[in-house]
Amino acid sequence: MKITDIECFVLLVPDFDAEACSSAQDNIVVRVHTDEGLVGIGETDTNPWAVKALIEAPGTHCMGLGLKEMLIGEDPTQAEALWEKLYIGSAMNGRRGLGICAIGALDMALWDIRGKVEGKPIWQLLGGAKQPEMTPYASLLPIGNTLKAYRKSLVEKAKEAVAFGFSAIKAEVCIKGPYSHMGLQEKDEDIVDIVAAVREAIGSEITLMVDVAYTWHDFKEALRMIRQLEAYDLFFLETPLPSDDLDGYARLADATGIRIAAGEWLNSRFEFIDLIDRGNIDVAQPDVGRVGGLTEARRVVDYARDRGRLIVPHCWKTGIGIAASAHLCAAASNAPFLEFLPAQLSESKLRQELVEDEIALVNGRIPLPNRPGLGIELNEEALQRYQVK
Ligand SMILES: [Mg+2]
Repeated sequence: MKITDIECFVLLVPDFDAEACSSAQDNIVVRVHTDEGLVGIGETDTNPWAVKALIEAPGTHCMGLGLKEMLIGEDPTQAEALWEKLYIGSAMNGRRGLGICAIGALDMALWDIRGKVEGKPIWQLLGGAKQPEMTPYASLLPIGNTLKAYRKSLVEKAKEAVAFGFSAIKAEVCIKGPYSHMGLQEKDEDIVDIVAAVREAIGSEITLMVDVAYTWHDFKEALRMIRQLEAYDLFFLETPLPSDDLDGYARLADATGIRIAAGEWLNSRFEFIDLIDRGNIDVAQPDVGRVGGLTEARRVVDYARDRGRLIVPHCWKTGIGIAASAHLCAAASNAPFLEFLPAQLSESKLRQELVEDEIALVNGRIPLPNRPGLGIELNEEALQRYQVK
């Protein structure tokens, strides 16, 4: 079997808002075609135009080869070998950042093809199930452009997610700092107040995680507030500090009983090795597309496991990435939750419409998927409708 073509689709919702926090408003979807008619699907969470250009650009020398050019004619079932070929061959243009995101989308599609060739779901190819079912958590991104409206929306979404059957939720409390919702710049005490309101709304039985989106400047500022959050039984606190303040992360992880989580943006296992060893975080959050696909995500899972750390994959795109996360977690012994934004609770049309037959949610759990590959189909009509031509 040989790879014959790669298509890249840049997708955008018509009502996108460049001030919003949500990266679910756009997408880059790749389809890898083979001479036997099997097609693999992948996506990644970064600027879609840039990734399309990176995949399609021709190579100009042996350290800057084209990703698409390197894959045409290759056997698609050799995902790990092809990962190495792409990483080495594109090193001068890639190696981190967008280059790894692009490889991630392609690698996801290659695993999808291999599953379809062997007639097996990807988790079986990754070594088999380490858990009988997965536990999703609902990420709740509020709407509203005042503090009051934000708080009200978050509390309502939390109650809705619990009524929907979720046993775990994550509150996005992004009301100050560089990535705040609609430019809000509120007080630290308001963060505590919102967390308290959400905990009260869902009761003590539901697992609660909080994402503050890189809010605080440094370790001392973060620690002062984290001490005040310790009363609300958080499973983890996500990205309290700037992404590159690894020493700050290490000091925080040592100083608080709340697990510290980070890693949603990281590319390649090498960045996770730094985050885990120097940053000393408790929960690594690889995004399957961004970290370099299932090949690389599995290496992060194993590295974290061997150092006694948890994995809770980041996923904010569509049913494609969610399926990849679910297969990854099924084959992991250290993945107690995965991010799962239900289509019904999402504002994104792409999240709602792009994938048919997506991974099932049954009584608040995800049973082991049993269809071959990722086990999902694209809605062809939605793919065409949201494509930026
Ligand atoms: Mg986050």
